[in-house]
Amino acid sequence: MKCLLVVCTLVVMAGALPALLEEAPKDGEFTDDLNLFDARNLTDDEQLALDRELMESKRRLLENPDLYQGDILLTEEQKRALKERNVIPSSANWWPAAADGYVYVNYRFASPSIAKTMVLQAINTWQANTCVRFRDIQNADGKPHLIFQNDNSGCNSFVGRISNTNGQPVNLAPGCLTEVDTPIHEIGHALGLHHEQSRSDRDNAIYVVLDNVKPDKNSRDQFAKEATNNFNVPYDYSSVMQYYSTAFSVNKKETMVAKEPYGQLFLDLSSTSFSFMDKRIVNLQYKCIALNLKKCGVAADPCKNYGYFGTSCKCVCPPGTSGTNCETLNQPYLQALVAAKFPRSKTIVAEGRVTSTGYPSPIAAKDEYIQLIKAPACKKVRLTFTAFKLTQRATDKTCAYQQLTVRKNNNLVIASSYCASEIAPGKVIESEGTTMVLHFKSFTTSPSPGYSATITFVPQASCTGR
Ligand SMILES: [Zn+2]
Repeated sequence: MKCLLVVCTLVVMAGALPALLEEAPKDGEFTDDLNLFDARNLTDDEQLALDRELMESKRRLLENPDLYQGDILLTEEQKRALKERNVIPSSANWWPAAADGYVYVNYRFASPSIAKTMVLQAINTWQANTCVRFRDIQNADGKPHLIFQNDNSGCNSFVGRISNTNGQPVNLAPGCLTEVDTPIHEIGHALGLHHEQSRSDRDNAIYVVLDNVKPDKNSRDQFAKEATNNFNVPYDYSSVMQYYSTAFSVNKKETMVAKEPYGQLFLDLSSTSFSFMDKRIVNLQYKCIALNLKKCGVAADPCKNYGYFGTSCKCVCPPGTSGTNCETLNQPYLQALVAAKFPRSKTIVAEGRVTSTGYPSPIAAKDEYIQLIKAPACKKVRLTFTAFKLTQRATDKTCAYQQLTVRKNNNLVIASSYCASEIAPGKVIESEGTTMVLHFKSFTTSPSPGYSATITFVPQASCTGR
């Protein structure tokens, strides 16, 4: 009966979107309700409410305050090492290669048991892209191995191989197994990968906004840098090891902002996935490339532009490159990722007009893109809005349904998000330097008119030219 009650509530509330979130079913009822919703063909707004609930539960699973960096288990030795600000040489925690060059990682499923499908899919994905081979040993054998289980602590793993243990847990609660990326991420930890935002070189790629991080020590620890070996693989915003931009936030504001404006598109729970650079770094770490070259009888790696020699005796090329040896660079890696995943993103370098997709036709799609507007040297971007109407704010006061985030300061961390009719016609927004970033997100297919503004480039005061 509870399910029916919830459905009725949703129907009654169909005209008042924000109320949906207040009426979202509670944890105990959730599974049944989901099934019933599936059978009914959800409206977009019902789906949005559910998406947000599922996203929140995934966040809670990843943000376990008792664990280092939310989902990383530490040995006593590793804890001491951190305290002493001295990281164990990482190769000590790598899984050793066997005589045949492959790296064998034993595992078993243990009680409390978990659904195996996604874990096996994650294992297969790692195997298809690296020389790591996983073997199900069924029972503990007194040697290092992975134990896939659910201890109700969320989704978490040790970083690297823990020696002198009779197996190390990879904890995966049911909410960690709704999509393959989470087990891929946790297995990535077990193979030795840290979070992308913990890389030693992360300050070149992201701003960490500690003012927005929860004040407790555990939350602050999330953003510690590690002495990682990066194998000259560039920082990848789309890495499966990258956390989302509001992770561990105390105020719903961003705790991480990409220094490269387009990178921000990927700092979201739903937009990172097992990336080319994730595969490349593990292939280098475990010397898979050398193994492939040897097996294929090729003396040296012929692959260019971060391509690597793969199992099928040819180069595996990154997005944005082509040619047998990835020798043609068509566009930079990040730009290629953006073109594939957020194709309506663009860089604008001329005066004129900027609008939401298809304006004045109403926006009626889930969509996301960045419009990066660049003025010439010594000029700034002046936007004069002629129209602005997006879906209203949600009950939690955020622009959860549709939003336009504007970054106009040289410091990209400063951002303002707008929805509803919050930008009046005639309003002028000017950039501080030469660049303005417009980041549009729509999570609903409820039609709204969108926005339109004229772009002019005006002189920056006291600019002496560069
Ligand atoms: Zn993690």
